[in-house]
Amino acid sequence: MKKNDIFLICGIIFIIACSFLLVFAFRSEGSRVLVVVDKEVYKEFDLNENTTYEIRQENGERNVIEIKDGYVRMTEASCPDKLCVKQGWIRYNYESITCLPNKVYVRISGGEEGELDAVAE
Ligand SMILES: [Zn+2]
Repeated sequence: MKKNDIFLICGIIFIIACSFLLVFAFRSEGSRVLVVVDKEVYKEFDLNENTTYEIRQENGERNVIEIKDGYVRMTEASCPDKLCVKQGWIRYNYESITCLPNKVYVRISGGEEGELDAVAE
């Protein structure tokens, strides 16, 4: 291994560690639920609005998400592995549920900017 490679690897580890720290330090309750299907925003929800929503794709694949008391989970999916369903509830900003086989991605996004300050007080 060359010296430069070691520097590069250390740099990458450092960056990953920093981004993890940032996510944990600024963990805030997100306010929106973003549903992305095949890299396009499919639907957006308010995290505080209790609802169940079925995502039906043209190829017949389906996923059902449930939003309840500020939490989101995938309740049903047509994918073979069901990893998305097993992931359970998420609630924090930047947390996400991915259903790789169906190309469905559910993410919590955008707590208000002032929220971070409010949490710190
Ligand atoms: Zn799945």
